[in-house]
Amino acid sequence: MSSDQPFPELLPVTAETLTDATLWVSAFVVALFVGSLVLPAPRWTGFPQPNGDRKEYALHGLPLFLVTHVVLGLGVAVGGWRLDALLSHFWSLFVVANGWALLFTAYLFVVGRAKGAAHTKEDSPLPPLLADLWFGPELNPTLLGVDLKMFMYHPSLIGLGVMNAAFAQAQWETFGTLTLEMWLYQGFTWAYLFSHYAREDFMLSTWDIIAERFGFMLVWGDLVYVPFLYSLVGWWVFGRGWSETDTGWVHEPYPLWGAALLVAFHLCSHTVFRSANWQKDRFKRDPQAPIWGKPPETLNGRLLISGWWGVGRKINYTGEIGVYISFALCAGFAAPWPYVLPLTLIVLLTQRAGRDDKRCRAKYGELWERYCERARFRIIPFLY
Ligand code: NDP
Repeated sequence: MSSDQPFPELLPVTAETLTDATLWVSAFVVALFVGSLVLPAPRWTGFPQPNGDRKEYALHGLPLFLVTHVVLGLGVAVGGWRLDALLSHFWSLFVVANGWALLFTAYLFVVGRAKGAAHTKEDSPLPPLLADLWFGPELNPTLLGVDLKMFMYHPSLIGLGVMNAAFAQAQWETFGTLTLEMWLYQGFTWAYLFSHYAREDFMLSTWDIIAERFGFMLVWGDLVYVPFLYSLVGWWVFGRGWSETDTGWVHEPYPLWGAALLVAFHLCSHTVFRSANWQKDRFKRDPQAPIWGKPPETLNGRLLISGWWGVGRKINYTGEIGVYISFALCAGFAAPWPYVLPLTLIVLLTQRAGRDDKRCRAKYGELWERYCERARFRIIPFLY
């Protein structure tokens, strides 16, 4: 194993690279928005919000995800597009995405406040002005009929997909082949996005959609954190195992037994992650819907205790962390950086689990204590 493995080319930030990045990011976001206006999409009714209202949503995720494949596929095959330019322009794209996040936050702030939406002193420990910038003034800002909170997942996740595809093209252009670990990485990350979009409706029952206002915190997460941090592993998958010799590039293959174990680990984690979220979502829509083919067991019809939810109180987080570990393992062990992704998510999700446990204890009282006796751990069996 060598730590001096090759790396995709990175250009410094210049006026030229910034201009390119501004054009690409702006065209991408605007194209997705126009797609959200014109593409056909299934309509769903949202869950009751804190004030009891239910919102109607048109869920454009899957059509946008599929159309992006067609457009980029044609662009690369016919138009000669080089997605790996996204990697060489990484720092400029990062600057521009941050700029977009700030501009968009300003837009949400101005439009929300103009409509009279604002935090009060009781709503947040932050002063109202800061709270309106950080969390946002409005719960569900909408532009031309498009719900902006749901929309912003598209530049985020489809953007992540495009970044990931860029690593495959970069490897192909540099070495003339795609390695087994690159296929695994592409397969795992694509499956993660596809399983999200195949059941985009499950997002409607999440905390972020029901109860979080829309401001810098979520906007920055969507436009910067997800596409740039979640694709971090790809930088090390690109060059894993490659070294340059007098006769050219040679590649130390990823062990087949390791690949087989990794696929099994990914499939288990991915299944737990998505099916746990889908079970809870189904229960919230129809408390009688069968779980694993049997009528659901519940506590007073309010808390689900069968299926994955009888195993761990945050079992969806367990599966999700497993998915990120499976991404990182595609890069092997030559450098620690790919593991920054799962480590960051472990910190984020354990904190979120602790906060949510407190919220549920306050909301469900004694029922939550009974649930904790039934499902004894949150994320890690016997430890946490
Ligand atoms: P959670 O899965 O944390 O949902 C927690 C809520 O679900 C609780 O507050 C409670 O709310 C309800 N609940 C908990 N246990 C039960 C039970 N046994 N029966 C019935 N209801 C229960 O978060 P979300 O649903 O908001 O998130 C969904 C997914 O999104 C998660 O997998 C999460 O990991 C992922 N996510 C990922 C992030 C990332 O950065 N990668 C960030 C945010 C989310 P209620 O008041 O409705 O009962």
